[in-house]
Amino acid sequence: MNNRELFLQHVAQTSSAPIGLEITKAKGIHLWDSSEKKYVDLISGFSVCNIGHSHPAVVKAVQEQAAEYMHLIVYGEFVESPQVQYAKLLTDHLPASLNCVYFTNSGAEATEGAMKLAKRITGRSKMIAFHNAYHGSTQGALSVMGGEYWRNAFRPLLPDILHFNYDDDVVIESIDSSVACVILETVQAESGITVPRKEWLQAIRKKCDEHCVLLIFDEIQAGFGRTGTLWAFEQFDVVPDVLLLGKALGGGMPLGAFIADKKLMSTLTYDPVLGHITTFGGHPVSCAAGKAAFEVLLTEGKLSTIKEKEKILQEQLNHTAIVEKRSHGLWMSLQFQDNTMNQKIVHRCVQNGLITDWFLFAPDRLRIAPPLIITHEELDTVCEMIHKSICEVCDVRS
Ligand code: PLP
Repeated sequence: MNNRELFLQHVAQTSSAPIGLEITKAKGIHLWDSSEKKYVDLISGFSVCNIGHSHPAVVKAVQEQAAEYMHLIVYGEFVESPQVQYAKLLTDHLPASLNCVYFTNSGAEATEGAMKLAKRITGRSKMIAFHNAYHGSTQGALSVMGGEYWRNAFRPLLPDILHFNYDDDVVIESIDSSVACVILETVQAESGITVPRKEWLQAIRKKCDEHCVLLIFDEIQAGFGRTGTLWAFEQFDVVPDVLLLGKALGGGMPLGAFIADKKLMSTLTYDPVLGHITTFGGHPVSCAAGKAAFEVLLTEGKLSTIKEKEKILQEQLNHTAIVEKRSHGLWMSLQFQDNTMNQKIVHRCVQNGLITDWFLFAPDRLRIAPPLIITHEELDTVCEMIHKSICEVCDVRS
């Protein structure tokens, strides 16, 4: 059996139609498969590789840390310099109230930790979440996920979860002193990129303050410059009580985090002691890689150019088959008439050397989220290639 056959046989599958390419090398914005065919990565590993693949500074940090030490002991016992230094760097770039970092293994585990924190602090269990939200696949995170189809097979899940429409004022009245937390993505990803109204987020913040409800922002996909600012919440003049990070946080290594004020976070240290524990969370190699990647993002990420790059996508991606374009920063969705047409375009893009995909709650939308380091010229070429792929599928010249 070749590797692809072994993959289908022995590696647990999440769908009946995986992309199934065997990638042998990844560098910058490019991937190469086993036949040495080159692809432009338009997904960035789902917003992981914001500074591109295998940046030399990240590779060096991984190699050096692995040579010093890897896992030593469960999270929170020893002083591990990569964790400490990364927590300091992150909190230096966050508002003063987000000053204490709990490192986890993944985004889902960050969601779980934040949900537990909200219960522990408020003594309440009711949580407010939103339709079309994705916060992870573990059972707590799944409980606040916004799609009945995805949740139903795994019931019973957590009780007392209320789901509302995103960016709809109806939710405001329901935030009262029976609620532990409101959890939302600052910009919703898997609905095909939905940017909420500033007034909506501000009204939620106000109601949460009035009733001592924790406001949790999930920026696992939206963070680290994807929307044009380091953190998406900066654009709404709202600061959450808890910030969830993941994906680009580890610079390509597995890492998640929930970040809050030290006073809130200390509730996890008593009654019960060890309120949230993990063996590998904040792994020193992941933290060293994440810190190196974050430093590269700050120095070479050119976040000020993201809006110009968004404009290139908005202006150059035109075709009569595109029903709607939505974007926020270097993060775009193109809607087509139905899922089938979109699937064909995704496949054609792959054939033409572009890795792209659809959205979980919007399978009729094409995902465009290249590494942030992509140049203007590379974007011009990408737009031509996407246009060509759309023309080949839709058989329409425009
Ligand atoms: N939250 C958001 C917005 C995500 O996009 C994801 C993953 O796609 C998660 C949470 C879960 O992260 P992980 O897959 O690392 O558990």
